[in-house]
Amino acid sequence: MNQYKLDPDKAIKLKDVDPDDTGDIKQKADIRDKLEKDLARIRALQEALYAEHKRSLLIVLQAMDTGGKDGTIEHVCSGLNPQGVVVTPFKVPSAEEMAHDYLWRVHKVTPGKGMIGVFNRSHYEDVLVVRVHDLAPKEVWSKRYEQINHFERLLTDNGTVILKFFLHISKAEQKERLLDRLNTPDKRWKFALGDLKERALWDQYQEAYEDALNKCTTAAAPWYVVPANKKWYRNYVVARIVRQTLEEMDPQYPQPAEDLSHVVIED
Ligand code: AMP
Ligand code: MG
Repeated sequence: MNQYKLDPDKAIKLKDVDPDDTGDIKQKADIRDKLEKDLARIRALQEALYAEHKRSLLIVLQAMDTGGKDGTIEHVCSGLNPQGVVVTPFKVPSAEEMAHDYLWRVHKVTPGKGMIGVFNRSHYEDVLVVRVHDLAPKEVWSKRYEQINHFERLLTDNGTVILKFFLHISKAEQKERLLDRLNTPDKRWKFALGDLKERALWDQYQEAYEDALNKCTTAAAPWYVVPANKKWYRNYVVARIVRQTLEEMDPQYPQPAEDLSHVVIED
């Protein structure tokens, strides 16, 4: 899975990453068992992380509209203990949030010890939508890449492991998914006319994404560019990387603070 991890010393072009890629796997049926096993393993590791109560895991999800952030969360979190995970969506900032620096609302919701935090969008919006729509002048947003690196460094130095996923879909796939939202009654609520305006800015977004990915991939907080045209492959890749990362963290159940060997529970 490390093939999708960006190298801090090598800039990528999104055009060079195929959103249709499914690695060595031809079809979903070939990995059904693995999908289940990965989720079960993630669940077991989450228990230990929660019990250990020393470190946390932050999963950042970014994508173009319809890119699959919601679906990925549904999949990866489906086996987790709800008590140990907090999912936070980032919307247009409120008046109170706007009255503070852009990281204020983010820092407040980073995962505490033992927790897994999932960001559906994130502080990266402040160098994406803000840049593409000129919501702040260039001299403001251009300083943010370095600020974000410092912020993420602060988190990783203090026990939070960070995984950042860009779910990479093609423009043609987005069209299919928008049409599907329009034509399926149960999905229409997700369709916003504004999505078409965003779609018209596709190239500007790709450019803004490229900069965010290249400038903010660090050894401590790497970006992964996940081929996401195939939903099953996207889910597989993200779950694999989450599993791998939790395995590397190797959370340990704490030892009891006192000797319990002579404890007797009376009838
Ligand atoms: P959705 O994720 O579809 O519910 O949409 C959330 C919307 O909030 C998207 O259009 C984002 O671009 C927008 N958004 C999130 N963060 C910011 C931000 N910091 N500034 C402006 N818009 C934002
Ligand atoms: Mg939306």
